[in-house]
Amino acid sequence: MSNKSNTVSDNPLKWHAYKSDKALAHFESRAEGLSVIEAEKRLAEIGQNHIETSQRSGPLVRLARQFNNILIYILIAAAIGTAFLEHWVDTFVILAVVLINASIGFVQEGKAEQALDAIRNMLSPQAVVLRNGQRQTIPAEQLVPGDIVLLQAGDKVPADLRLLDTRSLRIEEAVLTGESVPVEKRIDPVATSASLGDRLSMAYSGTLVSFGRGRGVVVATGAQTEIGRISAMLSKVEMITTPLLRQTAEFGRILSIIIIFLSALIFAFGYWVRDYAAAEMFLAAVSLAVSTIPEGLPAIMTITLAIGVQKMARRNAIIRRLPAVETLGAVTTICSDKTGTLTCNEMTVQALVTADHQYQVSGVGYAPQGAIEIDGKMRDLDQLDPALVMGLKGVLLCNDSWLVEKEGDWQVSGDPTEGALLAAAIKAGLDPKIETGLCPRTDLIPFESDHKFMATLHHDHQGQGYIFIKGAPERVLTMCQHQATAAGEQPIDADFWHQSMERLADSGQRVLAIAVKKVPGTQMELGFDDVKAGAVLLNLFGIIDPPREEAIKAVAECHQAGIRVKMITGDHAATAKAIGLQLGIGDGKTAITGHDIEQMDDTALQKAVTDVDIFARTSPEHKLRLVAALQAQGHVTAMTGDGVNDAPALKRADVGIAMGKKGTEASKEASEMVLADDNFASIARAVKEGRTVYNNIRKSILHMLPTNAGQSLTIIFAILLAHQLPLTPVQVLWVNMVTSVTLAMALAFEPTEPGVMRRHPRRPDMPLLSGLMLWRIPFVALLLWAGTFGHFVYMDMLGVMDDYARTVAINTLVAGQLFYLFNLRYIDQHVFSVDGLFGSKAMWIAVAVLIVIQLAFTYAPLMNTLFGTTPIALEDWGRILVFGLLVFLLVELEKWVRRRYFISV
Ligand code: ATP
Repeated sequence: MSNKSNTVSDNPLKWHAYKSDKALAHFESRAEGLSVIEAEKRLAEIGQNHIETSQRSGPLVRLARQFNNILIYILIAAAIGTAFLEHWVDTFVILAVVLINASIGFVQEGKAEQALDAIRNMLSPQAVVLRNGQRQTIPAEQLVPGDIVLLQAGDKVPADLRLLDTRSLRIEEAVLTGESVPVEKRIDPVATSASLGDRLSMAYSGTLVSFGRGRGVVVATGAQTEIGRISAMLSKVEMITTPLLRQTAEFGRILSIIIIFLSALIFAFGYWVRDYAAAEMFLAAVSLAVSTIPEGLPAIMTITLAIGVQKMARRNAIIRRLPAVETLGAVTTICSDKTGTLTCNEMTVQALVTADHQYQVSGVGYAPQGAIEIDGKMRDLDQLDPALVMGLKGVLLCNDSWLVEKEGDWQVSGDPTEGALLAAAIKAGLDPKIETGLCPRTDLIPFESDHKFMATLHHDHQGQGYIFIKGAPERVLTMCQHQATAAGEQPIDADFWHQSMERLADSGQRVLAIAVKKVPGTQMELGFDDVKAGAVLLNLFGIIDPPREEAIKAVAECHQAGIRVKMITGDHAATAKAIGLQLGIGDGKTAITGHDIEQMDDTALQKAVTDVDIFARTSPEHKLRLVAALQAQGHVTAMTGDGVNDAPALKRADVGIAMGKKGTEASKEASEMVLADDNFASIARAVKEGRTVYNNIRKSILHMLPTNAGQSLTIIFAILLAHQLPLTPVQVLWVNMVTSVTLAMALAFEPTEPGVMRRHPRRPDMPLLSGLMLWRIPFVALLLWAGTFGHFVYMDMLGVMDDYARTVAINTLVAGQLFYLFNLRYIDQHVFSVDGLFGSKAMWIAVAVLIVIQLAFTYAPLMNTLFGTTPIALEDWGRILVFGLLVFLLVELEKWVRRRYFISV
């Protein structure tokens, strides 16, 4: 085998030009697939089916990138300048700062990348294969040449396949060919010279199945696949960025230019007007520039984002595109699927309705324990209506799922609706194996949300053909002209069935109908035309699917947070309204159906969409119109989806959310976020986290800008007032570095503020520098300046040495920054509470580290030499602490005034 596969990789055979048997023979495979042992052997020989998609820059390049930054250029220029002036200590310190800054950036970026990598890995696709003749779902990475892979609509083709069998198989190959119109696949060989887009007999790794089904043998995996060969071209390094980050970076650049210009002015002013020495003024200008430029901000924002993404992943919301984190925080409307997301997706048949009787089914879940009853009296199989027995046989046959028992717990493998039907049939006394043996399947029309039914063609041993149709009752009713009764077939009583359907749906049950149509034994294929008419309705099934407890809470939380939740379901309107009422969505009275949506033009839909929360009997294309209508009304919309046809709506939504468990690859590919547990509560949590991330980014800005501005004001005023500089350039560099590393970094780890989900969503067009920021930044900057400069002047007046006064001034500045950090735990609310003051571990760690560093800075002889500091007395610390406390209290007072007179929070 290994020799052969080498032949394949060295000299790729043109599998598209050969008959499929040749591929099977070449890979020593069979229609029923490889054996598990053989597959494992091949996996060990050939390696995983995995392509390195992102070309990562190596660590050296990443390190080098840290130096490519305007601030670093200024610092290096300053280091050269000081070296010329032979201020060696300054040169040394500046270079050390450059190095430390770069290494911190390097480590942080590495961590952020790692976090995102881990999340990408969580999204690795699955493949359905035949091994030992059995269908298995395995991670796509474990596929080997020779494996038989089954494809269906929504799948991402997991390896290069020579197709063996296709049923209306259409594949979208845009990743390979650029052509976004799906190609209809066949199994006949094509010309050897056919280009990729014309190789109809192949399915290529990474392309998406948009319709139909197929089966193929793996001819290439991993790097040997067509996509593997060109992956170098496709690989994009996903930048860790979002609109907000870009906005801040841009703002930072403009600010830097202004600051450099301002520093030049200050230099000119100091040198010519105030007669400072050129060297001293040069250093002052440099320190001014360095202290004011918020160089740490981009790194802190990236880290905040990465932490947010990691937290979301831990809570089952996997972000695929980073900007979604921010958008999530601004979401005003969430449109959610019902089944499985808002409900448990644990279906149980509770009611059976035939033309003659109404039955109840006892037992819960998928365990086939329970019985069919009428008015509490058990009925055996032979006591049931013949129509019902036929109906129960029908749902056993027209079914692609099965029940499995794991440690006493019954679970469904496949579709839960089908699992519920199976359990009901078994409770009645039927055996799926016997029934499928008696009446094997010849063909099928699979269930799709678009047509809302599934049909299968069977033949019994007497040669009689049957088509069983199960699906949404209104749909099935249109195919039936007759109903089965105890007295034989009779013309259908549509009113009776509609009433029964409404009654079941009103109690929140999902309703399915089953019908049968006899066909000649010679019919071997099944098409849509065969089920248009002529079927006999057998019975209805009423299935309950209880709402998820946590979804009820999450919906309430969303409402509190000013977010409207809308349910978009394929189910009947009455079922949807009833379930909606239990969940707190809608008023239990109004719903719009897919049919209504079709009757409305865009303007009418826009009007309707705001007030109504339940959309029933919808198909995926309605979702697209709904998103568009909501967006036209100014809503930031999150929309869930799982099917291949949901992809356009997911793409269009502000945040497209795919289901991790039951979602197709196509829907995941189109979405910004994937829910690992398919659970609505995870969306609400992600919104909360999105708001937290945005808040934390604002907090970092609120901390960094005023502290930077406070430092620069100190220098500018000293020069303007012809005073001694209260901080030397190296000291400014020091403060800037230690505070941004410790204090601002702690803000990235801030937990969610308590009231976050009680506020209305942020307006998406809200500028970064909002009213609060424009006010609070200068306010705190002035406080810090007043304290630092005032304390320095005071010490000067006491007649201490300059070094001493400076050391006191620096510690005053740092204390102000440290106390202000606590104000930022809550942006608007007061922090006088246990959680407010002690709720953040990261903050206390940062404070402890900063205190140790500052003590070393003040008392360690080496630091004294390097930075020109000197030990200070205890009473100086007393004044420093009082100042810090004053900053804290004044900012709290400011918050109180704002809360009281300016904003309502
Ligand atoms: P959502 O997840 O969007 O809330 P849904 O899962 O309730 O939607 P669909 O899966 O589109 O909706 O199902 C619509 C209707 O199709 C159901 O109400 C049911 O009558 C019918 N149906 C569901 N599953 C099957 C199936 N496997 N076979 C036949 N009919 C089905």
